Amino acid sequence: MIIAIDGPAASGKSTVAKAVARRLDVRHLDTGAMYRAVAWLALEEGIALDDRASLADLASANPVEFDYAHGAPVATSVRIAGLDVTSAIRSPEVDAAVSPVAAVHGVRETLVAQQRTLADARDTVVEGRDIGTVVFPDAEVKVFLTASAAERARRRQADLVAQGHAVEQAEVRSRLERRDHIDSTRTASPLEAATDAEILDTTGMSVDRVVDAIVTRVEAAR
Ligand code: C5P
Repeated sequence: MIIAIDGPAASGKSTVAKAVARRLDVRHLDTGAMYRAVAWLALEEGIALDDRASLADLASANPVEFDYAHGAPVATSVRIAGLDVTSAIRSPEVDAAVSPVAAVHGVRETLVAQQRTLADARDTVVEGRDIGTVVFPDAEVKVFLTASAAERARRRQADLVAQGHAVEQAEVRSRLERRDHIDSTRTASPLEAATDAEILDTTGMSVDRVVDAIVTRVEAAR
């Protein structure tokens, strides 16, 4: 069974998707981490963010790998080009670079194929932007999480501060809105809710309540 969880930046997808995977003891796949890993490598290698051909080549030459320790539902690390990039892909620099990289058709083709392989033949909670629309249009459960821009900026700023990045909330909000704008208006698989997705506005909702709502849906679909 595929449980697709899509939504804009900082809508709570990661926290919720990991908790759902742990509750159900099924694998979690963070597709955003894959686009981030390619963006990180592009920055490392000095590839221009508008050089679509080089970005597509970079993605196809460097598969993203996840380590799941002892069959744990949630990956403990993300690697690309043999390097552990688990923390590096969460930096403000990668935040700024990832949406232009993810808008490149060739990059998406490669990563979507990898995502289908990674979730093949096992129950998986897959989080991203186009999971219910493009990657797994036949997913048994599809949820689209949203939250107000103010709430999302507050959550994202708290994450960044916890990771040691000092940033103003207004700046975080304007970067999130810029990223959402690129993600929603690109021609290749834009961010949008699948017509058959359940839309959950998580503003003011506890993580537990959101997780309960999704687990209830999964149980009904089983
Ligand atoms: O989920 P996260 O915020 O880590 O995703 C980072 C970026 O990766 C998004 O802003 C988007 O540009 C891209 N992405 C995507 N398709 C996905 C997952 C993420 O385009 N399925």
